Order: sequence, then C-alpha cells, then structure tokens
Amino acid sequence: MHHTPLQGAAHRDFHQRSIKRLIQILRITQIALLLVSILSVVAGNYSDAILIMATGIVLFVVDWAVYKKHSVAGAAFFLVSLTLMLSWLAWQGSGIRDTALLGYCAVLVFSASLGNKRLLVALLGLMVSLLLVIAYVNDRGIYHHQIEPTNLLTGSIVVIVLVVVGMAAWQFADDYRAALDELALDNERMKAAKGHIEHMALHDPLTGLPNRIMAQQNFESLYQTAQSHKQQLGIIFIDLDNLKPINDSLGHQAGDQILKEVALRLLSYTKSVDQVCRFGGDEFIVFMPNIQTEEDASTASLEILQLVSETYLYRNIEIFCTCSIGIALSPQDGEDLDTLIKKADIAMYHSKDSGRNSFRFFNAAINRNMLDHISLISGMRRALQDNQFSLYYQPKIDLQQNRICGLEALLRWNHPEQGFISPATFIPLAESSGLIIQLGEWVINDACRQAKIWLDAGILDFSIAVNISSIQFKRGNIDSIVLNALASAQLPPQFLELEFTESLLIEDSERLVHTLAILRSEGVHFSIDDFGTGYSNLGYLKKFEVGTLKIDQSFVRKMDDQTGDAAIVKAIIQMASSLGLKTIAEGVEDAGTAALLRSLGCNEAQGYFWARPMPAAEIENFCLNWQKIC
Ligand code: C2E
Ligand code: CA
Ligand code: CA
Repeated sequence: MHHTPLQGAAHRDFHQRSIKRLIQILRITQIALLLVSILSVVAGNYSDAILIMATGIVLFVVDWAVYKKHSVAGAAFFLVSLTLMLSWLAWQGSGIRDTALLGYCAVLVFSASLGNKRLLVALLGLMVSLLLVIAYVNDRGIYHHQIEPTNLLTGSIVVIVLVVVGMAAWQFADDYRAALDELALDNERMKAAKGHIEHMALHDPLTGLPNRIMAQQNFESLYQTAQSHKQQLGIIFIDLDNLKPINDSLGHQAGDQILKEVALRLLSYTKSVDQVCRFGGDEFIVFMPNIQTEEDASTASLEILQLVSETYLYRNIEIFCTCSIGIALSPQDGEDLDTLIKKADIAMYHSKDSGRNSFRFFNAAINRNMLDHISLISGMRRALQDNQFSLYYQPKIDLQQNRICGLEALLRWNHPEQGFISPATFIPLAESSGLIIQLGEWVINDACRQAKIWLDAGILDFSIAVNISSIQFKRGNIDSIVLNALASAQLPPQFLELEFTESLLIEDSERLVHTLAILRSEGVHFSIDDFGTGYSNLGYLKKFEVGTLKIDQSFVRKMDDQTGDAAIVKAIIQMASSLGLKTIAEGVEDAGTAALLRSLGCNEAQGYFWARPMPAAEIENFCLNWQKIC
C-alpha cells in the first residue's frame, strides 16, 4: 500500500498504539489467568489451575515476539493460546455450555481490532471446529460433559471474563474515539489550509487587496448589476508616477509602505474591497459602479488623484507620490475586463505623456496612434537583433579650405515591411521607451568600428560625430559606454565627437559635469546640435567646454528670406567666435547659402548642397573623389 508521508505517520502511530494495547491486554489476561488459577486451586480443581497458570506463563512468549518486532505473530500466538486454553477448559468442564467459552468473544473482539482479517478468520475457524468437535462427541455419545450446578467459582470466572471483555472493549472504543478526534482535527486543519490557499490565490499578499483573478470575479458581478440598472461601469486604471525613485532612494520597504497606504486610501474611497484590485507592481484598478455620465467618472478620478497625492509619512520622512489615471467605460469601450483594462491602460499612458498626476479617458484615435507606436517599439527591439539598423554618413565641409572636415553618423532603419523609417519618427519612440540606451550604444560602437577602419585606410583625418540623446546621458552610463566602444575599436578618442542638444546642459547636474569632464579629458570632442532653438545660454557653453555650435537648419534654410534669420545666424557666428567656439551650419541646400555663410565667417557647413547622408561604402568613395578633385 502506498501512503503519503502524512498518512504514513498516522499509520505508524496507529501501529504503535496497537502494540501497546496488545501488551496491556496481555497483562490483563495474565492477571486474570492468575486469579482464575488461584480460584481453581481454592476450589480444589488442580488440573485446571495448572493449565491456566501454564498458559499465563507461556504467554510471555508474546513479549519476546514483540521485542523481536514480530508483533503480528505474537498477537496470533496470544490469541491461539487463549483459544486453545479456553477450549481445553470447556472440554474439561461443561462442554459447549462452559463459561470459559465466553472468553471466545474477547479473543474475537481483540483479533478484530488488530485489523488482520486472516488471523480473525483462522481463529473463528479454530473456535468453530473445536465447538463442532465438542458438539459432535456429545451428540454421538462418545464423551459426555457434566453440567455442573452453578457455584461461586463459575460465577467468579464469568465476572472475570466479563471484566476482561469489558476493559478490552472500552480500550478499543477509546482508541477509535482518539482516532476519530484526530481525524476531525485533521479535517479542521485541512479546511483552514484550504481557506488560506484560496485566499492567497485570490489576493495580493502585500496589500491584501484582490488580485487580477479575484478582480475578474468581482468585475463580472459588478458588470451584471450595472447592466440590470442600465448604468455604466467605470474602470479606473491607476499607475503610481514615482514609486521607482522612492524604491531607489529610500529602499523597497518604503515602496512597500507606500503601496499599502495607497491600498488603504483606495479602500477608504470605495468603501468596498470588491471594487479595488492591485493589478501589478505599482498599478491599481478601481471599479466605479453607478456611472451615469463621463462627468461622474471624472469626479471619481479627481478624488482619487487627490487622495493618492496627499503626503505619505515613512520613518518621519514626508514622501510625495502622485499617480496617472486612465479611464475606460463599459459597455461603450468594451464588455470584458481584458479589453477594458487594455483601453484604460492606453488612456493612462496618455495621461503620463501629458505630464502625469492627471487622468484621461480612453479615446479611439489616441488608441490607433498608441498601437502604431507600440508596434514600432517592439519592431525596434527586433530590428536591433536582426541588424535592420545601419549608419549613414554625411560629410561636414570646411568652408574656408573647401575640404571634408568631419562626418556625421545618422541612424537608418530599414524596416522589412515599411522600408526606410525616418529617425525623426523612431528616435522619439526609442527615447520614450528607454530603448535608446541599447540603440545608442549600438550606434556608438558601430561608428567607432567604422572610424577605425577608415583611420587605418588613411581616409580619416577628422572626427566622426555621433548624435547622443539626453536620455542616454541621464539614464545610461554614457561615459563608460563611450570609453568601452573606443577601447574595443582601438580608436583614439580625438576621432570621436558627440553631438547633443542644449537642453541637456540646462539641467547642469553634478553627474553630467562629471561625465563630460571624463570624456573631455580623454580627448573626445563635443558639439551642440540644433543651436538657437533652445535656451542658447552661453554661460553653459563655456562651463562645459563645448567646442562647436551647430546652427539649426531652420535658420540656415531661411537665410535668404527677409525673416531676419540671416541676422540670427550672423549673431550666433559672431558670439561663438568671440567665445572661441567653432560654428557649423547644417541644412545648406544651395550655393548661395554656402557663399553667404562663408562670408559671415562660419567655419563649417553640412547639407544636401554637398552631399546627402550615404552608406559607409558610398561615403568612402565620396571622400576619395573629393581628395582627387581638390
Ligand atoms: P540632426 O542631428 O539635426 O541631423 C541632421 C538631420 O538633417 C538629418 O536628418 C540629416 O539627414 C538632415 N539633413 C542634412 N542636410 C540636410 C539638408 O541640406 N536639408 C535637409 N532638409 N535636411 C538635411 P535625419 O538623418 O533624418 O535625422 C533626423 C534626426 O534624428 C537627427 O537630427 C537626430 O536628431 C536624430 N538622429 C539621427 N541619428 C541619430 C542617432 O544615431 N542617435 C540619436 N540620438 N539621434 C539620431
Ligand atoms: Ca546631429
Ligand atoms: Ca541638427
């Protein structure tokens, strides 16, 4: 038989108890046999006395058997001996009517309690055969048993036998009661454990709120009620805005504390645990029944925004945490929870985009845009693995000496279905999804690798410029990424230039100062891209030792208009030269603009007038031909 560990233990317990009982009953029986044999001596019945006494002594064999771990054999020996003794007493006495035969019952009860069917059947068989033998010899007149008149001895024997039977029966009943109690207790424990497991499966362990699975059940009943009352059910998707920085700066305990507190605040708002759910890390969902108009859902969302944004206290520190909310309404936005949550989630992203700590309704037009974006972002992830990205290069021209003085690396995505996708489309998405970190690292590595090839081929006597997004500075360890790329390409740092926009410098953080100082000291060049469109704060330019200003194409392209853009360009060039900075104009499309820039003293220029961005092989030819021409 196979037992689970728990059943096995119970089984062992029961077995131990049976052995204990066997020994107890053995002792009681031996005492009873002693008493009966004394009584027999008193009555002058010496042969009975000797037999009974002998049996009592022989029964010590059972102790030995139990000691040798043959408890079943011991029990069998015990019961067979008793049966034989009782039968012998009956044979000696009044045959079938002998009181000794009462002892058969005790033997059978005990044997039954051992649970050994073979032994029970064997004993029963033995008893019946012995009785049949006695009955047969009586009937055939072979041997006649005397029916003695009842005396004190017979009476005492009956009493003793009854006491033994009674005690044995009581003990068995006790055992079964104990076993039943145990079972009831086990059952109780099982029920409690089952309840606990069910609760765990349906609730979030941290906040105790219903989890997604439970939310599904709650949604169904709320949805039914709303339907029958012809009302709308609002799905309010709540995403905390700044749990990550709290976790990062104060530790996860602080984050956990905030989550618990948010859960309590939401519960205090809904007053019903069925309407709140912790959906994921820092996401909660609130179901709002009784929605008549969008206005109702707006009011609810505003109140939740208010509640969540109240200060939190953690170890006497005041913490601020806001949330962004997306709302979907059923049935208009969907009838199943999955769809509704998806739409509320999209709306939530929209409210994150528009500055956080706000709420937005789901809107089909935004949805389409969002879905396109999401598919582009996942496409970009694949593109990185599948080598769909490549770098194009556009030459920079020295206006005074008319020679190539640099190359700008520009990223291209050759999408397998959509063809070339403009970086103006995918770079902002890469930035918002954080993918720019990996993508940017690929760009730096590939540009350095290519630059080293050209350097070794003698084509390169200028630097290659790589565009760096400010996200890369803020989130990535850009200094080590750049230094690693230079080292693994074995490219001397002065052949690398980083282009970034002014907005980065405005932040003026300690970390940025440090990062730029490291790269600067290695010999990497910097230039400010799209100059003139931002704050144009010259103080920063000096502080960060930027070498070059790239005048934004929007001014360059309108220089020949009367819009005053030529004046702006002129001012930038003059300012830069007085600060000792180089200027480069981008977006030069015609000879006139080139000539004008040259006359204004602009150092370098870049644009379709000379060349469009080209793949590496083409730009290589372009450079070689240029050398020949000049
Ligand atoms: P940007 O850094 O200002 O790059 C100059 C853009 O102007 C390039 O567009 C270039 O092809 C285009 N251009 C150059 N000369 C002319 C011209 O004469 N006329 C006109 N109309 N356009 C000209 P592109 O390659 O489409 O790149 C767009 C923007 O995407 C870049 O602007 C840059 O901000 C970003 N980008 C491109 N590659 C990368 C990259 O590897 N990393 C990062 N972070 N951003 C990149
Ligand atoms: Ca650029
Ligand atoms: Ca630019």
